[in-house]
Amino acid sequence: MTNRTAFITGASRGIGRACAIALADAGARVAVGARNMQQLDELAEQLRSQGSEVFPVQLDLSSAESIKDAFAKTAKDFGAIGILVNNAGITKDGLAVRMKRDDWDRVLATNLTGAFLAIQQVLQGMMRERWGRIINISSVVGETGNPGQANYVASKAGLIGLTKSIAREMGSRNITVNAIATGFIETDMTAGLSEDLKGAMLAQVPLKRLGRAEDVAAAVRFLASEAASYITGHVLDVNGGAYM
Ligand code: NAP
Repeated sequence: MTNRTAFITGASRGIGRACAIALADAGARVAVGARNMQQLDELAEQLRSQGSEVFPVQLDLSSAESIKDAFAKTAKDFGAIGILVNNAGITKDGLAVRMKRDDWDRVLATNLTGAFLAIQQVLQGMMRERWGRIINISSVVGETGNPGQANYVASKAGLIGLTKSIAREMGSRNITVNAIATGFIETDMTAGLSEDLKGAMLAQVPLKRLGRAEDVAAAVRFLASEAASYITGHVLDVNGGAYM
């Protein structure tokens, strides 16, 4: 993927950060977006010291204006984007019967609408190049459902539908669109869960360990590569076998 330009959302920590490192390692130039500029600058410094070209850019996926600005700035100052990794995501858990409308709206706005608007920002450039890779980070719960996460699950199931629809629209332009449905990965998002809950989740995993951000990043690296050029509209499970 030498000289391809990738944009990774939510690259300030966790899975997105690991994706940026993996794509840079594969030779891509990487634009890294999130709200926390300090963490992005630290990542950029680390990757530059290893010889990669990096473009940190402030991005708030809950704001259409911020998305437009971040992608315009990247295209102008760094180059046309060939690989988009829609990774950023949030949770605001609660049982549906008591879920606040605001918690529903915020999760859908960031996880699903934000991803759609980011896709809109890159499609024309990819169509011009007749080459593109879009990878959306979904979740195993988008396939199975999960009590207490109606908003999050709806956003992650929505990403799967979005993936398949854009894959159908863009196939003739040589743009592939795939989703990764990740299982339980050890990051800030899951750090606050109780040991009991982690143990219960681990019991469901045939590979008998929780996932690492690098496990997801390796799948992203593959889907972004030339080797994956005949794969589109696919949902790749990276979950240790928790759901088959
Ligand atoms: P994380 O450690 O909480 O990181 C989330 C990332 O998203 C951060 O870089 C954060 O950056 C960014 N982000 C959040 N809100 C944003 C916004 N409004 N605008 C821009 N960036 C925003 O989470 P993670 O575990 O790495 O999760 C990454 C993705 O994998 C998410 O989509 C998540 O749903 C999915 N996933 C995770 C798991 C898991 O077990 N960890 C399982 C299934 C799916 P800033 O705070 O700097 O903006």
